[in-house]
Amino acid sequence: MRAQPAASHYIGGAYVESPEGSAFDSIYPATGEVIARLHGADDATIEAAIAAAREGQKLWAAMPATERGRVLRRAADILRQQNRELSELETLDTGKPLQETLIADAASGADCLEYFGNLAATLTGEHIDLGGSFAYTRREPLGICVGIGAWNYPIQIACWKAAPALACGNAMIFKPSEVTPLSALKLAEALTEAGVPAGVFNVVQGAGDVGAKLVSHPAVAKVSVTGSVPTGRKVAGLAGSSLKHLTLELGGKSPLILFDDCDLESAVSAAINANFYSTGQVCSNGTRVFVQKGLKDAFLKRLAERTANAVMGDPLDEAVNLGPLVSKAQYDKVLGYMKLGQDEGARLVCGGKAAQVPQFPQGLFVEPTVFADVQDSMRIAREEIFGPVMCVLDFETEEEVITRANATEFGLGAGVFTRDIQRAHRVIGQLQAGTCWINTYNLTPIQMPFGGFKSSGIGRENGHAAIAHYSQIKSVYVEMGSTEAAY
Ligand code: NAD
Repeated sequence: MRAQPAASHYIGGAYVESPEGSAFDSIYPATGEVIARLHGADDATIEAAIAAAREGQKLWAAMPATERGRVLRRAADILRQQNRELSELETLDTGKPLQETLIADAASGADCLEYFGNLAATLTGEHIDLGGSFAYTRREPLGICVGIGAWNYPIQIACWKAAPALACGNAMIFKPSEVTPLSALKLAEALTEAGVPAGVFNVVQGAGDVGAKLVSHPAVAKVSVTGSVPTGRKVAGLAGSSLKHLTLELGGKSPLILFDDCDLESAVSAAINANFYSTGQVCSNGTRVFVQKGLKDAFLKRLAERTANAVMGDPLDEAVNLGPLVSKAQYDKVLGYMKLGQDEGARLVCGGKAAQVPQFPQGLFVEPTVFADVQDSMRIAREEIFGPVMCVLDFETEEEVITRANATEFGLGAGVFTRDIQRAHRVIGQLQAGTCWINTYNLTPIQMPFGGFKSSGIGRENGHAAIAHYSQIKSVYVEMGSTEAAY
């Protein structure tokens, strides 16, 4: 098998197997080839990870923050040195084209390790003058954090959780998606090579049942999950019953609003990036593209012309723009929505069916699809599809589009295209979304907090904001005089 790891799990600084755990395969979605076979964690493996994390965290938290930061920055360097092989692995595991994985996956993970490595030594408490006496605060780690990943950006998600957690002095047990289990193990190797003590970052494999056991474990202080809203609800219930700290990065159905006065080519680029990048498997995608009436015809014409130029094919060929979907389940789901859109009466502008790539007869390829004349009530406009399916909706006024853009349970991303600077900020100020863009879409630099409003999530990843979600404040009152009592 092309990508078989030394063993399924990485615990206490070493590969560990759990032959009794249920076996599952990692499949290259372009060919259907099994590239690795792993085993889910059994209870003993989970307990071993907890024990390793407990020991590792004590050592790591006792290390000066400057040293922790240095180690994380070294890990960033290692990821950068290994970028090509990590990108190829990510392409095999997810089917995403190498053209993307070379710049968006391990590279983003390295940026994150570097950013939080730099922040580590700056994390301080405050001094509070009480007039003679005083108080101070200490920013302390939470302890053992559990990270649970989705399959669309496997190593990026692992880094976005591990880097702030480790910068704050925590240990992490990370469970990748069972669909894409491989690259988190490489991150664990890189962290060990960089000098992270054994047990500080552990990888445990398995499906939702393993995730639920980790979330429920009494030794775990914090849980951070990237996944769908239904999974987020289940995890929040489990974490709530034992009062754990919680970060949820969930799904979306984000609006991208194009006003008549915007730059047409940039708007078309944004709509393409917001719907077809990673074959549409991006949580913050702007899948409801609201186009003002005067721009509609020109927009749809250029969109169709440019979409026809997309190159679909061998994901390992750097000239290829579009790879297959990640799994048969996702393929069936997306094709179902392509049919549903036509049944619901939306106008198919392009795509709408499975794509044939002769070199890859078993590949899970679908055509990039655009529906026009979409109504707000249609299911394709309300439900997260997580595939290359763009819904174009018409609008006339600013007030109308704000109301319609907000009429969803989700609130992950939102974008506005206009040359009117006041309108851009006025509209963004009224959109119910955690991550917004003006005259671009889906750029997520590590410095910028990322997360959702409403059902799209709780808490934030990245930026200084993430620190609050991986640390706790201890307040200390220091009495400089004597202490009195009433009797
Ligand atoms: P999913 O919800 O099916 O699974 C996510 C992870 O949760 C997996 O590792 C899975 O094994 C685990 N899991 C499932 N049930 C669990 C349970 N009861 N307890 C604990 N863990 C459990 O999501 P997916 O299909 O892997 O990913 C796609 C979804 O993720 C989409 O909805 C997408 O929008 C979302 N997503 C969100 C972000 C973000 O940052 N907001 C980023 C990427 C993906």
